[in-house]
Amino acid sequence: MKKTVRLAKNAGFCFGVKRAINLAEEASSDHPEIVTLGPIIHNPQMVEHLRRKGISPVEEDDLPTDKPVIIRSHGITKELRKRLEETSPSVIDATCPYVDNCMQHAKQLSKEGYPVIIYGNKDHPEVIALKSYIAGESYILSDEDRLPDKRFSKLAVISQTTKSIEGFQKLIGKLIPSVKELRVFNTICAATSVRQSSSYNLAKESDLMIVIGGKNSSNTQMLFNICNNIVETLHIEEAEELDCKILEEKSNIGLTAGASTPDWIIVEVYNKIMKCFRDEEKLISKIKDIPGYKEE
Ligand code: SF4
Repeated sequence: MKKTVRLAKNAGFCFGVKRAINLAEEASSDHPEIVTLGPIIHNPQMVEHLRRKGISPVEEDDLPTDKPVIIRSHGITKELRKRLEETSPSVIDATCPYVDNCMQHAKQLSKEGYPVIIYGNKDHPEVIALKSYIAGESYILSDEDRLPDKRFSKLAVISQTTKSIEGFQKLIGKLIPSVKELRVFNTICAATSVRQSSSYNLAKESDLMIVIGGKNSSNTQMLFNICNNIVETLHIEEAEELDCKILEEKSNIGLTAGASTPDWIIVEVYNKIMKCFRDEEKLISKIKDIPGYKEE
């Protein structure tokens, strides 16, 4: 049986994550030990890789006062930022500029007196940070939540950057009948939506999809849900989780990866598939050698 393995056109590290990792690595050349507030990205293998370079995650309650601290791409609450600026010897801000833009909207809308709905997951650090910038009335709604039981004369809506456009559209549609003035900022990041649409397109042409990324990464989980609705799909964090048996009856295998999955893990998974196929002359060392890869 002829086998093909292709990578979704947009997969793996996004701009904001690349930027955060670069800032952390640059800082580590000047400081032997640096801390990040929580894991810098939702990928345990990358976090371990950085730990070996002296960049370690700590929880908020264990923040040291003698080491530089990196704010990760999801951003942090207003209160915590203030505390860091007062207590840390230096603060390296790796908040993604798109997340920062969303925070600026939250701040401005609340200043203008709009109750603000954040479309997002209550426990996600980005959403917790966003909410902290809203001084007045605010609500966090995800897909399963009911709308607030009241009519609004005016209302604003923003979204967690990694939510799906379809879910955001549905929410806006539901809000329209109960609001006179509705202000909507589409703060969903294009890196997320293009990863979703290219995974969807590849899933339609595949008989197995393999989604690579942290089990704790919400954007990876979203890719899994999208692909799994179309075709049999596996979610793995690294190559060793892949069992060759599952590939035996498959001829078109699609690969995709969340925005926090490093290239080297995608390459390892591709090479594991080639080893399963006993096609060792096709082993590669760079992501650009995987069929379907497109530089962003
Ligand atoms: S997914 Fe988008 S908003 Fe989030 S870190 Fe990446 S580029 Fe920034």
